[in-house]
Amino acid sequence: AESVLITQQSHEELFKVLHNNKQAGASEQKVVVVSVSPQSRASLAARYDLSSGEAGRRLTSFFKGLGVHHVFDTSFSRTFSLLESQREFLERFQRKEQDKKALPMLTSACPGWICYAEKTHGEFILPYISSTRSPQQMMGSLVKSYFAEQQGLSPQQIYHVAVMPCFDKKLEASRSDFYLNKAETREVDCVITSGEVQKMLEEQNVSLNDVEPAPLDEISVSGDEFLSHSGSGSGGYLHHVFTYAAKQLFGEEVKELTYKTLRNKDFQEVTLEKDGVAVLCFASTYGFRNIQNLVQKLKRGKSPYHFVEVMACPSGCLNGGGQVKPLPGQNQKELLQKVEALYKAERPLSPEDDTRVAELYQSWLHSVGEERAKELLHTQYHTVEKITNGLTMKW
Ligand code: SF4
Repeated sequence: AESVLITQQSHEELFKVLHNNKQAGASEQKVVVVSVSPQSRASLAARYDLSSGEAGRRLTSFFKGLGVHHVFDTSFSRTFSLLESQREFLERFQRKEQDKKALPMLTSACPGWICYAEKTHGEFILPYISSTRSPQQMMGSLVKSYFAEQQGLSPQQIYHVAVMPCFDKKLEASRSDFYLNKAETREVDCVITSGEVQKMLEEQNVSLNDVEPAPLDEISVSGDEFLSHSGSGSGGYLHHVFTYAAKQLFGEEVKELTYKTLRNKDFQEVTLEKDGVAVLCFASTYGFRNIQNLVQKLKRGKSPYHFVEVMACPSGCLNGGGQVKPLPGQNQKELLQKVEALYKAERPLSPEDDTRVAELYQSWLHSVGEERAKELLHTQYHTVEKITNGLTMKW
């Protein structure tokens, strides 16, 4: 299964689709959409000594030169994911007395962690995992539903490629939950890593430094600034859900979060105290050693947390296995620091203050109705037997 996946989701496959488009008649051509993650932009920016924004604009130009029709930034869908996570957290917090598994809410944007949870801890852990889609799969919904409709296209007329810092994102895209049965197409057809984009550039003998920048496209909203989120390089879920919950549930405006490092820098805690009592207790756990520790705490009923941002890679997505590798003589740690600095240099904006996207989120949800919105913005998890129909799937 894995080798089929790797052939189906590779930069060669994207080249093939673009080549076929050149040969095919207009009615058979696919509209090719590429969604670039901010972590990949930062990684490629570090490789070419550019700012993240500039790397995004030059990548847009490179992809369009190859025949790609639209290039989007997944920061856009990450805002959707953050807004929906905030909503989900409030709903879970309010039913925590009746439902003992409502909290802690564990984030679900990392497929490496989800695979481990489904395979190793199955039924026990699944109720805790947030059902909100990851930014990649939120983008899948937006491109194959909202954008397709806007453009008067059917979902299968679009070939949707996501550029990600991570190989596990290919497996996420191939989950049966993200297959549009009626249209017989996936929401994300192909995932390529930052490193594979680097390979594409090299195969075409192109340096990003020599490419003319072009603005990224936007889905139905105008403006050309890149949107970013303060917090970790893995999306800032903890940061945004914490500040939102503090305000909505306890009327507290939290400007700066104070992180307490627990076992190591990849296991941190943030609390909100009222009258000496910790009313909100959030944590971030990165890397499998810390994840195992968290799961043990949960199993022993000793987890004090309401919310945990869980990521499989130490240091999170900026350090993902699909990022651009260090140059000969370049130190991995220094490269990571450079990528982190580039990522953080983007303009921080709270999802609820990002009015353009927040308005689209509201109007889209309203226009499709509650049930459909749930399908478009959420997913579900399964024990391994259920997702593989009895076949063992290697992640
Ligand atoms: Fe992928 Fe690592 Fe990020 Fe998880 S933490 S989504 S495995 S890059």
